[in-house]
Amino acid sequence: MDLYEYQGRALFAKHGLPVLAGGVATTPEEARELAAQLGGQVVVKAQVKVGGRGKAGGVKLAEDADEAAAHAAAILGMDIKGHRVEQVMLTVTADIAEEYYLSYLLDRAERTFRCIASVAGGMDIEEVAATTPDRVAKVAIDPNVGVDDATARQIVSEGQFPTEVADQVAEIAQGLWRAFIAEDATLVEVNPLARTPQRRVLCLDAKVTLDENAAFRHPEYEELADHAAEDPLEQRAKEKDLNYVKLTGGSVGIVGNGAGLVMSTLDVVAYAGADLAGGVKPANFLDIGGGASAAVMANGLEIVLSDPDVKSVFVNVFGGITACDEVANGIVQALDLLRQRGEQVDKPLVVRLDGNNAEAGRAILDSAANPLVQRVDTMDGAAKRAAELAAAGK
Ligand code: GDP
Ligand code: MN
Repeated sequence: MDLYEYQGRALFAKHGLPVLAGGVATTPEEARELAAQLGGQVVVKAQVKVGGRGKAGGVKLAEDADEAAAHAAAILGMDIKGHRVEQVMLTVTADIAEEYYLSYLLDRAERTFRCIASVAGGMDIEEVAATTPDRVAKVAIDPNVGVDDATARQIVSEGQFPTEVADQVAEIAQGLWRAFIAEDATLVEVNPLARTPQRRVLCLDAKVTLDENAAFRHPEYEELADHAAEDPLEQRAKEKDLNYVKLTGGSVGIVGNGAGLVMSTLDVVAYAGADLAGGVKPANFLDIGGGASAAVMANGLEIVLSDPDVKSVFVNVFGGITACDEVANGIVQALDLLRQRGEQVDKPLVVRLDGNNAEAGRAILDSAANPLVQRVDTMDGAAKRAAELAAAGK
């Protein structure tokens, strides 16, 4: 779960990291009052869960409360990379002499925690790493040791931080690590970590991603979640305990049993659709799990079918412990159930059943003879058919 900057900043403050006083406003009038409380000179920042706000015009300095209100009016409602700005954060303005970069992340490829540190902050760190890799330090962090004083010194030295800020950066490196561990984050990033002309080092931005797998020990995560900004289909799926992820730009709805099978279904559909006019792609990931009862199948199909981007659906089932005849009954009953619920079911479904009791399952589909349902018995063939139907339905 990604946090808004103001939420990340609050976590930083909780762990003793140097952040400036501030608050959140949702109207220009609130921004004016808040700016006045903060002393007038403030920075007004769009709160969206995407980087590059500065470049997009979502970060503006104000000299007084009136200007803060004007900036808030301009920034609120702005669209930044597809994210609508509903809130702005105001903080006391810092003077910046230098901008650095500091982050911790879970490096899955290298199977370690990693610190990334650079004195070339303020800009896109990927770009810095690509153009001047010697200015970006990557320090592996031993989870059994964490960031002790020696590790913090190593970060300072490999990051090539100037001597005059070494102590402050070392302390911040330890504080940021404490936040990373205590909050169960998979990413904490400060860009810029700024040095003022008075040589104070401050966290001027906060990017935090929390590990939702740790939600069971963090009841406070629930308050940090922004349900209004979630994809409405993903939200409905979550309420029904379905593993659903909406994929943008796709038109083939995908339903399968087992995450591995669904992942490979996405690949096969993308492959089959690549050569079709305009390119056809999968519209979602949906794993209905092992059981796949009629009710679960109905819930899954309901979500996938209600996505206006979906033009055809590929139901890909491999019967393991769950037999295909049960799944076939599930599909038939699910379609009836949806009709009873008053859902409009008018998109073609391609169903592939294989594995345990496949023959019996196919026979059930055949005898139900639903005109919307097409049976194709190979995964590649079914993917191709579903992609073609989606292309035709565009
Ligand atoms: P991002 O573009 O989404 O990463 O947003 P940031 O919070 O990093 O802000 C973008 C840029 O605005 C920073 O790199 C700074 O140069 C500038 N900025 C942010 N806060 C302040 C501030 O308090 N004072 C000054 N002078 N500039 C700021
Ligand atoms: Mn930033």
